[in-house]
Amino acid sequence: MNRKQNRSLNKVALISTPWPLYSRPSVQLGTLKAYLNAQFPDLLVETHHYYLKLAETIGYKLYHDISERTWMAESIYASLLYPNRWKQIEKLFNAETKRKPLLKEIGLKALSNQVEKTTKDFIDSTDWGSFQLAGFSVSLCQLTSALYFIKAIKQIYPKIITVIGGSTFSGNGAQSLFNLFPEVDVVIIGEGEIPLSQLIGHLGRSKIPENLPSIQGVYTQNTTAEQNDHRHFSQMESLDSLPIPDYDDYFELLKSFLPQKSFFPTLPVEISRGCWWKPTSKKGKVTGCAFCNLNLQWKGYRSKEPLHVVSEVDDLTTKHKILSVAIVDNVLPKKTSREIFEKLGMLKKDLHLFSEIRATTPLSELKAMRAAGMQEVQVGIEALSTSLLKKLHKGTTLIQNLEIMKNCEALRIANISNLILHFPGSDEQQRNETLRNIEFAIPFRPLKAVDFWLGLESPVWQNPTTYGIKAVFNHQNWSYLFPPEIYKSMPFMIQAYRGDLGYQKKIWQPVKKKVKVWLNTYNELHKGPSQSPILSFRDGRDFIIIHQRRFQAEPMTHRLVGTSRLIYLFCQHHRSLRRLQAQFKAISEDKLLAFLKMMVDKKLMFTENDKYLSLAVPINL
Ligand code: SF4
Repeated sequence: MNRKQNRSLNKVALISTPWPLYSRPSVQLGTLKAYLNAQFPDLLVETHHYYLKLAETIGYKLYHDISERTWMAESIYASLLYPNRWKQIEKLFNAETKRKPLLKEIGLKALSNQVEKTTKDFIDSTDWGSFQLAGFSVSLCQLTSALYFIKAIKQIYPKIITVIGGSTFSGNGAQSLFNLFPEVDVVIIGEGEIPLSQLIGHLGRSKIPENLPSIQGVYTQNTTAEQNDHRHFSQMESLDSLPIPDYDDYFELLKSFLPQKSFFPTLPVEISRGCWWKPTSKKGKVTGCAFCNLNLQWKGYRSKEPLHVVSEVDDLTTKHKILSVAIVDNVLPKKTSREIFEKLGMLKKDLHLFSEIRATTPLSELKAMRAAGMQEVQVGIEALSTSLLKKLHKGTTLIQNLEIMKNCEALRIANISNLILHFPGSDEQQRNETLRNIEFAIPFRPLKAVDFWLGLESPVWQNPTTYGIKAVFNHQNWSYLFPPEIYKSMPFMIQAYRGDLGYQKKIWQPVKKKVKVWLNTYNELHKGPSQSPILSFRDGRDFIIIHQRRFQAEPMTHRLVGTSRLIYLFCQHHRSLRRLQAQFKAISEDKLLAFLKMMVDKKLMFTENDKYLSLAVPINL
C-alpha cells in the first residue's frame, strides 16, 4: 500500500470495551495497531482500552468481580442497550449475584447508572469525528458493551465506519448481525490483520463500505450468500511478519491515573495461534477437545520462531519496565517450546510467567519453563478418569494428569486447572473413578470444579447425538438480555442443549463436595511456616524417606531401601509393568507386584492399565 492511496483515510480507532481483565493491555489491539502502523506509515491508529478506564472508575475489585461472571457482565450493558427489558435483565443479574454479596448490595440500577455515566463521559470526551473508522475487538463478555458503544457513537457520528471482529464473530453468526444491528457496517471474520488492512486500503480510495470489492474475511450488508462462508479466512502465512505489539496507549492511560490507582500490569505475549491438537475440523469427526470452541478464528496452527518470541518478551519488558508476562496461546508449540523457554531463561530477567500447557508436557520442558520464570500454569487436566478423558477427546490419560500435577508441585509452579463436571454422556462409573482418583490427587494443588457449558461450533455442538444430546439452541440467558427477534435469529457463543443435564447434575454432586474437601485439606496443610509438599521424599543415596503429611492426623514416614528405592525413583515418570520387569530382572514378578500393590494401597503410588507412577514429590528436583 503506498502513502498516496491512503491519504483520505488518516485516523482509525481500535476499541476494546468492558469486561476483559483490566490488568492486561489488549493483545488484539496492540498487535493490530503495530501491524497497521507498519502497513500504513501515515495512518494514525489510536487504541482505546476503555475497560481499563471503567475499572479505574468503579474500582478494580468491583470490576474484577463482574468480569469473572459472563452473565453478570453482559447484563450491565444489556440494561443500557434495552432499557425496556429492565425487569428480565435484572432478574438474571440478581440470580448471578447470589454468591456475590457486594454486588447484590449495589444492585443493577446503581451499577448501570455508574457505568452509563462513565461510558458517556468517555464517548463525549473523544473526538469521534476525527476518525474515519472505529474497530471493535469482541471476545467473551464484550458483546453487549461493544454493541452499546457502536450504537452510541454511530448516533453522534453516523458517518464513522464501524467494524466489529474478534472470536465472538468467528462462528457462523456474522451475517445475521447486520439486520439486527444496523449500526454495524463491517464484520471481520478470522484474524484481523490482513482483512482490516485491505479494508483500510480500499476505504482510503472509496471511503464508503458499500463500494467495497470482495475481500476475504470482510463482510458487509452487500456480501453475497456465496461469499458468506465463515470458513473463508484470510490469515497470515507466518506470524513472524508481525511486529512487536504496541501497548503504549494502555500505559499512557494508566499513567494518567492517580498514584493510588496505579498498578503493575501483566504483558500479554502471543507465541502461536490455533491448536495443533485440533487440526482443521472434518465434518462429522471430532477433532480436538470435544468441549472446545476456541480457535474458530484461525485455520491450522502457526507459531513464531523462538528468537522472535524472546526478543518480543525482552523488548516489551524493557520498554514498560514490567516483569509479569502472560502467554496467551491456547496451546504452546510442540517442537520449539523448550527452546523458547531455554532462551527466555538466558535473558537473565526474573520474569513472572503464566501459560496454558498440555498435560503431556514433559518434566524437562517444565523445568525449562520454571527456570525461565514460569510461576503459574493452567494445564488441560479437565478430568480425573481415563475413560472420561477419552470421551472428552483430550488425548491424555489420568496417569499423565497426575504426573504433571506432581511435577508442578515439585517445581513450585501453581497449577490452576479445571475439573469439568456434567459433561454430556458421562456416567456413574466415570463419576466413581473420579471420586476414587481424587484420593490419589489429594497431595497436589486442587482442581477447580467447573460446570460444562456448550460452546457454539465445538465438537459436541457439531455432533450432538454422539453425546446423547437431542437438541442444541441459544442459552436461555440470552433471552433475558436480548429482544426475542435477536435471541431467535442470532447464534450466540454460549449454547444450551436438551439432553441429560438433570442426571449429570445429580451424579456429579458428590465430586463437587469432594473437591471442596480437597481444597480445604490442601489449604489447611499449607498453613503455617511449613510450605513443604504434602507428600514428599528425601533421597539418602541408598534409601529414601517418604514424608506424608495428613489432615488432622500425625504425619507418616516410610523408608524404602535398596531396590525398593530404585523402583520408586524409576517410577517418578510413569512406567509400564513390562518396562519395570525389564529394568529389575533380578526380582520375581510376584515380589515386584506385591511391592507395587503395597505402595498403591498406601497411596504412595498410582496405577492404571499396568502402568505405575510414584506420587511423592522429590524435595530437591
Ligand atoms: S482445549 Fe486446548 S488443546 Fe483442546 S482443542 Fe482447545 S485449544 Fe486445543
